[in-house]
Amino acid sequence: MTGPASPRAEIVVDLAAIRHNVRVLRDLVQVDAPVQLMVVVKADGYGHGMVEVAEAARDAGADWLGVATIDEALALRAAGDRGHLLCWLSAPGDDFAAAVAAGVEVTAYTVAELEEIAAVGGGARVQLKVDTGLSRGGAPRADWRDLFAVASELEHAGRITVTGIWSHFVASDEPAHPMNDAQEAAFREALDLAAGAGLDPEVTHLANSAAAILRPSSHFDLVRCGIAAYGLDPAPGETPRLGLRPAMTARARLVMSKPITAGDGVSYGHTWVADHDTSVGLVPAGYGDGVPRAAGNSASVWVDDSRRPIRGRVCMDQVVVDLHGELPPPGTEVVLFGPGDRGEPTAQDWAEAVGTISYEIVTRIGGRFERRHT
Ligand code: PLP
Repeated sequence: MTGPASPRAEIVVDLAAIRHNVRVLRDLVQVDAPVQLMVVVKADGYGHGMVEVAEAARDAGADWLGVATIDEALALRAAGDRGHLLCWLSAPGDDFAAAVAAGVEVTAYTVAELEEIAAVGGGARVQLKVDTGLSRGGAPRADWRDLFAVASELEHAGRITVTGIWSHFVASDEPAHPMNDAQEAAFREALDLAAGAGLDPEVTHLANSAAAILRPSSHFDLVRCGIAAYGLDPAPGETPRLGLRPAMTARARLVMSKPITAGDGVSYGHTWVADHDTSVGLVPAGYGDGVPRAAGNSASVWVDDSRRPIRGRVCMDQVVVDLHGELPPPGTEVVLFGPGDRGEPTAQDWAEAVGTISYEIVTRIGGRFERRHT
């Protein structure tokens, strides 16, 4: 099938799929108690387009949006978003004043950060992050008491409002991992300590997508879902069928096809040599566009209703695929990955082929691909 006149390579994002997934997740966590949903749109909406995804998520009822950086949060405000919005990764020199003025909730890990935020004035809304085992951001257990005491003092002095306390799982995609129970228990301890210090935040939260789906005990007041909102499985092999729909399709148009004969090697280093006469096609997307180099001799694409393996090394701008003796014309549609409805590979298939997670596949694909939303 020849695709419609379209760019040489494009990413098509199905916003109806995002809206559908957000509704599925909202319904899933509403079962026993009212739990709010934050849709995580950092890193350009996991490669799907932060602003467009944010709008779709709000339309479908997302109570909150979550991003890593203040810059991302300010970009959402500049695009017109006015809802609850949390960011969690500040670096020295970041503009807390701009965040506070824009009504963005910021996260503090340390007393020093809390004081810096309070010094901004303007009624900062602050969430406190506690490290319950990831050993990444957040206050280590030894500092919880001090952090809560200072936060409480600042709140009572009217300088900040502590709106949330939260943490992040180590291995929620592995339901049997012992850290899940340990972190949930540690989080409850942190909340008790915070209450003892006089804090009564609006929201407490711990769960990401995998925990939202697999671990209702971790829902607290709010769940933070990223990957599942994009329709990808947060815990392959563990997740029940929820009818999530992958939103991203990466497609290109074939540049050329040609026959090759047994003994011909393909691409740099001739890491693949044909052992029979066949044909190959040139796809104009390479590692310069975020196609993983490890996809060489491992991942497949979809051409004319069947999967075609990538042969030889991925180059900067192009890859070569095995067309099994066929010679489709230039311009023929090549789907690198998509929802899988037609049998085409999914981002998860690519992740497994190259030894990574679907998060990395969708977040990195881009480069010279055009992106459009449907
Ligand atoms: N919460 C935080 C703090 C995150 O950094 C992320 C993403 O890595 C998420 C939630 C969303 O995680 P997931 O995409 O697994 O739902």
